[in-house]
Amino acid sequence: MKLLDDATSLTDDLTRLRRDLHRIPEVGLDLPRTQEAVLAALDGLPLEITTGTGLTSVTAVLRGARPGPTVLLRGDMDALPVTERTGLSFAAPVDRMHACGHDLHTTMLAGAARLLAAHRDRLAGNVLFMFQPGEEGFDGAGHMLAEGLLDAAGERPVAAYALHVISHTWKSGVFAARGGPAMAASNVLEVTVRGAGGHGSTPHRAKDPIPAACEMVTALQTWISRSFDVFDPVILTVGTFHAGTQSNIIPDTATFRATVRSFSDAARARLREGTVGVCEGVAAAHGLTAEATFFEQYPVTVNDPAEAAFAAGTVQEVHGEERYAPMENPILGSEDFSRVIDAVPGAMIFLGATLPDADPDTAPANHSPLAAFDEAVLPDGAALYAELAMRRLAAAAESPAGAVAP
Ligand SMILES: [Zn+2]
Repeated sequence: MKLLDDATSLTDDLTRLRRDLHRIPEVGLDLPRTQEAVLAALDGLPLEITTGTGLTSVTAVLRGARPGPTVLLRGDMDALPVTERTGLSFAAPVDRMHACGHDLHTTMLAGAARLLAAHRDRLAGNVLFMFQPGEEGFDGAGHMLAEGLLDAAGERPVAAYALHVISHTWKSGVFAARGGPAMAASNVLEVTVRGAGGHGSTPHRAKDPIPAACEMVTALQTWISRSFDVFDPVILTVGTFHAGTQSNIIPDTATFRATVRSFSDAARARLREGTVGVCEGVAAAHGLTAEATFFEQYPVTVNDPAEAAFAAGTVQEVHGEERYAPMENPILGSEDFSRVIDAVPGAMIFLGATLPDADPDTAPANHSPLAAFDEAVLPDGAALYAELAMRRLAAAAESPAGAVAP
C-alpha cells in the first residue's frame, strides 16, 4: 500500500490532532502543552525519543529494518502573539494563535512518524524527526543544533527537509520550492541618536537628534539604492521610530529600529558595516553621536539544488505533476531551518493551504489574525514527509556517496 493511501486513512486522526494543537497555542522556546501532545501522538511508536533541556523540543529517531544513513525531517511547533479572528469552531481562546500554521507542520510530522514506523521493513536507514519550538524569532533550531540534534541518530544526516504551509499565494495542495536561495536572511538595525535637549524655541542652544535621525532613515534608503546590485536584493524597513514628549521640547535622544533583509553573504557583510557607517556619518555631520548596532538573526535559507530537485520529483511522482509549482523567486520571510540546511544539504518546501473558497491572491496571509489553513493538506503533507525520507534513503542505498544527482 502506498504511503499516501495510508496517510489518507489517518485523516480523522490528523485533523483531531491539528485542532487540539490549534486550541493550545504556545509562543517561544517553552511549549509544555504542545510537547505533551506530541509525545502522546508518538506514544507506542518504535522511536528513540529525547526532549530538549533548554527548550521543549522533541527529537525522535526511527531505525529502519536495514542499515543506512539518516534523513532529517523538521516540523516547527510554536505559535504567535496574535489574537485569532478566524471565527473557526476550534479557534484559540487566548491572545496567542497558530497564525503561521505550525500546528499543521507538527501534525504532519507526527503523521509521517506513524507512516514510516508502519513501513519500517522498507526503510534502509534512520529518520530523525525534529519537533522544534521557537521558530518565530527565538532561534529554536539554533538551540536544538547546540543540544546535539544532528548527532541524535549517531551520525550526521545526509539530507534534511522541512514543509511550510502558506495560507495564500498557492491553491490548497500545491507544493512549491526552488533550488538556491528560498528565503531571505533577517537582521535588525538598532539606532540611538544622542544630542542635547533644550527648548523648542531655541534650537541653536540644543543639539536636536530628531532631524538627524530622520536624515538617517532616508540616507539609509538612498545608500542602499546606490550601493547594492539590484539583482542581489536588499530591503530595509524602519518599523519603529521614537523621540520626544512635547512639541516645544527638544529631546536628548531619538531611536529607531529597522528590519534588514538580504540574500547573499556579501550583501549582509556590507549591510553590517554600511548601515552603521551611514548613521554614524550623518550624526557626525550634525555634531551628534549615534550608537548603531546591527544584529544578525537568521541566515539565508539556501536550498541545495539537488535536494530541491529531489523534493520536486518526489512531489510529482507521489501527488502528480500539476501539484508542483517551481518558484521563480525566493520569498522575503526568513527561517531558522536555514541553520539546519547550512549544516546538512536539504530543502524547505512550501505547501499551499489556501481555503478552497478563498482567492490565493487576496486570502489573509500567514501571521494575520484571519489566517486560515485548509486542513485537507494534512494527509498530503504527512505523506510527502514520509516519502521524502523513504525515497531519499533508498537513493542513498543506490549511490552510497551521499548526494542525489541534481
Ligand atoms: Zn512559520
